[in-house]
Amino acid sequence: MWAIVVHGGAGQITSASREEHEALLEAVKSGAEVLASGGSSLDAVERAVIVMEDSGFFNAGSGSCLNIAGEVEMDAAIMSGGKAGAVACVKRIKNPIRAARKVMELTDHVILSGEFAEKFAVKLGLEISNFITEEKMEKYRKLMEVFRRKEWYYKVNKDLLDRYPDLLHGTVGAVAVDSRRDLAAATSTGGVWLKLPGRIGDTALIGAGTYADSRVALSATGIGEYIIKMGLGTRAGMMAEMGMRADEIARALISKMSSEFGRGIAGVIVLDRDYRMGIDYNTAGMRRGWMRSDMKRPVVIDI
Ligand code: ASP
Repeated sequence: MWAIVVHGGAGQITSASREEHEALLEAVKSGAEVLASGGSSLDAVERAVIVMEDSGFFNAGSGSCLNIAGEVEMDAAIMSGGKAGAVACVKRIKNPIRAARKVMELTDHVILSGEFAEKFAVKLGLEISNFITEEKMEKYRKLMEVFRRKEWYYKVNKDLLDRYPDLLHGTVGAVAVDSRRDLAAATSTGGVWLKLPGRIGDTALIGAGTYADSRVALSATGIGEYIIKMGLGTRAGMMAEMGMRADEIARALISKMSSEFGRGIAGVIVLDRDYRMGIDYNTAGMRRGWMRSDMKRPVVIDI
């Protein structure tokens, strides 16, 4: 048996185009193919995330948002079998999740950031790309006008997001469990629009936005600062250790987020070693999809 769940970000999502739907479906299918052919959960989550990084429809890889300096700074992390790797604040790596996996497999560190993380990736032959497009610059200029007029923006908080929902969208993540019951999690993001340069979110932090151990795997999305403070991934691990199921864990985590910080903050996908899944969020929507070996076809929900 095997299972995979992916997300394409939590936020104020009100609609999805046909292409966005297809991209999410493609991500679930490619991860599922890896698992169906006997591949590992680690390969499956990496594959699914690469598809979303490459699609341009999500806030990860080619679709990444811009920070307040008009630059792309991406975070990504991957974890499985007691090993973890991450990159933070990388500007040009085409697939940050590939770089995260290299950190996990080739170094004794967990996170590499900035310039050296890029040099490391280039040295290993990973592709580089420029993700700053005219379309993004257009949105950047519009958002900057608002913030110049109204406030000095670096408070990535809920009130601000309620007013400018466009700032948070489309982080991607995947969790999977394979036929050997090995669990894996992967998450990749451009962060939030107009974040300060050098800001690192929950995605890159093992135990916050990305986590997998022998009982449970989690990928989170939402306002990273709250997810870090709550240590969602580590909490999921502790809840699984106490015997909770994936669905109970997802509900408990989001209910805790709501009671601590209010609604409109975060979403999680969770899988446990018994192939049970949990999905919950307290934002208006969260793009998500899943497939299990006993299902005929994948399910994808766009909002
Ligand atoms: N969690 C991501 C971050 O704060 C953003 C997101 O999930 O959309 O960097």
